[in-house]
Amino acid sequence: MSETSLDAGFFVRWLTAAAASVEREADRLTELDSAIGDADHGSNLRRGFAAVAGTLEGEPPGTPGAVLAAAGRQLISTVGGASGPLYGTLLRRTGKALGDADRVTAEDLRAALRAGVDGVAQLGGSAPGDKTMLDALDPAVEALGGSFRAAAEAAAQGALATVPLRARKGRASYLGERSIGHQDPGAASSALLFAALAETAEKEGAE
Ligand code: ADP
Ligand code: MG
Repeated sequence: MSETSLDAGFFVRWLTAAAASVEREADRLTELDSAIGDADHGSNLRRGFAAVAGTLEGEPPGTPGAVLAAAGRQLISTVGGASGPLYGTLLRRTGKALGDADRVTAEDLRAALRAGVDGVAQLGGSAPGDKTMLDALDPAVEALGGSFRAAAEAAAQGALATVPLRARKGRASYLGERSIGHQDPGAASSALLFAALAETAEKEGAE
């Protein structure tokens, strides 16, 4: 993993794969949000990631940090719900932490994503255990020290582990006890982002 070197193109391919995955899974995300929210998470993210993919398709920025920053800005400007600014912050902060390097290592990415996830926690006033996207993002970044696949698995497990939790942040928290027994939609979409990262890395022999 320490040998891995990721360029701007890798980040474009990751986010394009993430957009395709969000598109495929949008109905499921909205279904999860209809149980404990307002049934718009899938459509919010579909719109946001389609805009990200569109932006990156033309003339993508030349560094990993700039790709992530541009994607984050798109999410913030196109997603109306809470998840837009939160995912936008995740990508912008991660991009900022990568600086203007042409290539970054997997360890650089892990450290930068840590800064990004901390930014989400700060903006949301939330912590792991609150039944939000952080319950997938936080363990994923921890596991990234192992491999991209380990991070994807940790995110998926973290998302499933939100089912028995009571929501303490976001719209689902209005339901109190009734939020128990449902998977958090944002944790489910975070798992998709890390699955797309692992797929992209494995396809390119970066593990
Ligand atoms: P909205 O709640 O505005 O309808 P979405 O449905 O797109 O926005 O996104 C909801 C998701 O956003 C939740 O499932 C949760 O994962 C995440 N979320 C909401 N509020 C917070 C917060 N304060 N901190 C972290 N994540 C949050
Ligand atoms: Mg919603």
